[in-house]
Amino acid sequence: MPLDPSRVVTRLEELRSLTGNEDGAQRVAWTETWANARAWLAESLEDLPLDVERDEAGNDWYTLRGDSERAVLLGGHMDSVPNGGWLDGCLNVLAGAEVLRRIAEEGTPPVTVRLVDWADEEGARFGRSLFGSSAAAGSMSDQDELRKLADRDGVTLPDAVGAFGVDLARVLDAHAQLASAAAYLELHIEQGPVLESLDLPLGVVLGTFGVERWRVTWTGQAAHAGSTPMDRRHDALAGASKLALAIRDVARETGDGAVCTSGGVVCRPGIVTSVVETAEQLLDQRHLDAGKLASMLARAQELSRVFAEEEQIDVDWEKIWSIEPILFDQTLVGFADEAIREVTGTSHRLPSGPLHDAAELSRAGVPTVMLFVQSLRGLSHTKLEDTKPEHLELSVAALDRLATKTIDWIAAG
Ligand SMILES: [Zn+2]
Repeated sequence: MPLDPSRVVTRLEELRSLTGNEDGAQRVAWTETWANARAWLAESLEDLPLDVERDEAGNDWYTLRGDSERAVLLGGHMDSVPNGGWLDGCLNVLAGAEVLRRIAEEGTPPVTVRLVDWADEEGARFGRSLFGSSAAAGSMSDQDELRKLADRDGVTLPDAVGAFGVDLARVLDAHAQLASAAAYLELHIEQGPVLESLDLPLGVVLGTFGVERWRVTWTGQAAHAGSTPMDRRHDALAGASKLALAIRDVARETGDGAVCTSGGVVCRPGIVTSVVETAEQLLDQRHLDAGKLASMLARAQELSRVFAEEEQIDVDWEKIWSIEPILFDQTLVGFADEAIREVTGTSHRLPSGPLHDAAELSRAGVPTVMLFVQSLRGLSHTKLEDTKPEHLELSVAALDRLATKTIDWIAAG
């Protein structure tokens, strides 16, 4: 049977009624609803000649053996956030399943093709995203911290994953799954407004943003709001305010998708009758280019010292977290561009703000690319998340073409 993109839409609707309610999708990892969704997926692939296996990190693998052991991977995640959308993660899996079915029904492919359903991409229950893919990639280095995590009901992460046969001490053994991996392809909803604003159904993802996350603490002097003249103040909030506005110019001047956010400021004493003594400001900067990201950070730090001087206050920077930009494979980006143009006529290249399982695979050295399909109103992680059915169908067709090009490339190499 040829590829049937409309079947993917039907399956997504079926999954929604099976694992969602009036508040949205409820496929939170390590829950019964999630397990039901995975069992429903497994059942739908039973008629194909696949090897089915769950690895040490709880990832589900569906393998169609080809003439060569070298494998093209199609990936996604069946888990959702609580009250999530009907497409995030499962579109990738169900589109991959349709492509796998098309290939299987044509006979033995020249290379092995594997569908992977990563365990706990969202990290919704324990706050640790990319659980299964980071274990397989070998980048999960925080097992000691993971051991201490507990959900809202006090259930620990080791107990929760243990109920699904996953032993935290052994999750890195899942890395063996990538020994034969030659390429990784992932389709995902954009979860942002760019493609919709360009009126394009599909785009190629160039990579995931590098992130610098810092806490900027401004220290001045609390003083009475009535008795302290304006020119005698050491107002910590003034420094934070100037920086919050200045980083918008820093992002604008840097360009190429640069974003800077002052996500919050906590003031002390925080009462109406006092000048602010300390202002704790949260700053998040992102860029696809490591050099530009570094210079945005340096510029923000330099400006903060100027503002501290102007306001006669102190400023101190403390790193919260950072990750380098992850760039996808140039050859696969080219194939993705071609695939999208063949299906829709026009392609567009864009970075991804959120991290995805694909970033872990790329970091592990597997040539990787992602396709984005337009998200209506840019919304995700809510029941309002949506994409036009015709765009979903185009995305399945583009993934199929991308898979074919990639299989031919790996087979030739
Ligand atoms: Zn996702």
